[in-house]
Amino acid sequence: MNTLAWLDRLTSIDTTSRNSNLGLIETVRDALKGHGLDPWLNLNAEGTKANLFCTLPAQDGATQGGIALSGHTDVVPVDGQNWSSDPFKLTENAGKLYARGACDMKGFIAASLALVPEFMALPRSKPMHLALSYDEEISCLGAPFMLAELQRRGIRVDGCIVGEPTSMRPVVAHKGLNAYRCRVHGKAAHSSLTTQGCNAIEHAARLICHIRDLAQMWRSEGPFDEFYDVPYTTITTNQISGGIAMNTIPDACEFTYEFRNLAGVTPQQVQERIGAYVQRELLPRMQREFAGARVEIDKLAAAPGLDASEQAAITQLVRALTGDESVRKVAYGTEAGLFQGIGIPTVVCGPGSIEQAHKPDEFVEFEQLAQCEKFLRQLAATL
Ligand SMILES: [Zn+2]
Repeated sequence: MNTLAWLDRLTSIDTTSRNSNLGLIETVRDALKGHGLDPWLNLNAEGTKANLFCTLPAQDGATQGGIALSGHTDVVPVDGQNWSSDPFKLTENAGKLYARGACDMKGFIAASLALVPEFMALPRSKPMHLALSYDEEISCLGAPFMLAELQRRGIRVDGCIVGEPTSMRPVVAHKGLNAYRCRVHGKAAHSSLTTQGCNAIEHAARLICHIRDLAQMWRSEGPFDEFYDVPYTTITTNQISGGIAMNTIPDACEFTYEFRNLAGVTPQQVQERIGAYVQRELLPRMQREFAGARVEIDKLAAAPGLDASEQAAITQLVRALTGDESVRKVAYGTEAGLFQGIGIPTVVCGPGSIEQAHKPDEFVEFEQLAQCEKFLRQLAATL
């Protein structure tokens, strides 16, 4: 099957993150087996979703080292979006291919799969690998399990290309993404008897203002990285709930906050600052009102940032193949930071524009897919 046929097949399967991706994964697995390859799946706990990893050995059978091509199989929902055509039926018009996931990021996966027979026929001295994940669109939940399995199996990879839509230009860095839920527990009382209660909303508000102060501090003091649109670490509180009635002092308040950190600010540092405020200021204050007051903070999601070295072989190779030397750092997160986190140098480069991702009438241009194919052929030829 060529890239177009693969894209048609992949986009016809609705892999919105809330659905199973097994239909797609099994289709890919069977096709790879048909080429004599031996892909392995890595199922989630419920057995409803899977990662897929497949090594294309070198000519001498070597399976260690080489380059991995990585993509996520899930897509964002089309709910509430006004599409001009069926989002799960690939539709061509004036050089553009429309479907949910055409751009983010089944186009890259389609091109990679279409070229497997060519990759296999090349007298490569190094292997290639395909790494397909689930649940990337919901905070990169799936890929960590695949990477843990990779380590368990002792599979070594020299470099990785994550084919997220970058218009086939190398992206060398993005911020980390971290989300936390905070639960503040006070004590309920009739609102006329304020001295008997401990108002969870009011104390949560203090913490939220402290979080806002942190945001302000990074904004004015840095660290800065001018390659980003927003050149500093950000943190915001984005959801809150609490209270049961207008005349009852609330015993509980829950909120979520999210931060996007530059390479110079670690998630641990951020959490330590928040934890220190809770322990030193907030809790003592709350416990003067109610000895049983508590604050719980739980991690909801963490996807590390990417900060690729210009010296890494994969960075230099992608720069050479694309002829692009610009330093590009982007606002959106990818799985690249996870690969980098287990010691695999990684760069983001794939067909289509991020401008089209997640939107109604998402599309990828033919020309972008052709560029991607050319890139992948040249890449394989260097191995
Ligand atoms: Zn994506």
